[in-house]
Amino acid sequence: MDLNLEYLSKEEMEEVKRNVLFGKLEEVKGWARSASLWPMTFGLACCAIEMMGTSSAHYDIERFGTFYRNSPRQSDVMIVSGTVTKKMAPTVRRLYDQMAEPKWVVAMGSCATAGGPYVNSYSVVKGVDQIVPVDVYIPGCPPNPAALIYGINKLKEKIRYEAKTGKKVI
Ligand code: SF4
Repeated sequence: MDLNLEYLSKEEMEEVKRNVLFGKLEEVKGWARSASLWPMTFGLACCAIEMMGTSSAHYDIERFGTFYRNSPRQSDVMIVSGTVTKKMAPTVRRLYDQMAEPKWVVAMGSCATAGGPYVNSYSVVKGVDQIVPVDVYIPGCPPNPAALIYGINKLKEKIRYEAKTGKKVI
C-alpha cells in the first residue's frame, strides 16, 4: 500500500518521522524477534555453569530481552553448552525438532564447536553442527558469560541482517 503524505504540513511531517516506524514487514519481524530471544534452559556439561552465570545479577542477560524458557515449545534459541556425547545426540536433535520455527542454534564452547578436549574420544560428537544447524560459534573452554552475551548479540545482528536482506548468513 502506498502512503501519500504530501498533504501534511512540514511540522506534521516532522511529527510523523519522530513517531512512526516505516519498514518492510519482514524487516520489522526480524527486528522484533532479535529483540526477544528465548533460549531453552538446558546444559550438557561445564559450559552450562557459565551459561547460568549470564542470568546472575552481575551479567543480567535479561536486560537484552533474552529470557530462558523451560520448554522447547516456548524457545527459539538452543544454546548447546557442553560436551555432546553420542548417547545424548539424538535427544539434542529431538529437542531441536520440538522447537517452533524460526529457531537458531548457538554452539557454546570448544566441545559443542568441535569436540573440545574430548575430540579423540570414541563417545563424543565432533561438533554439534553434525546434528543441528549452528548459527553462532563461541570459542573457549569455557567461554565466560560475557562471551555468551556477545555471541547472543551477534546472533541478533545476524537475524536482523537476514530479515533485511533476505540473504542467509552462514
Ligand atoms: S568446552 Fe571445556 S568447559 Fe565447555 S564443556 Fe567442554 S570441557 Fe567443559
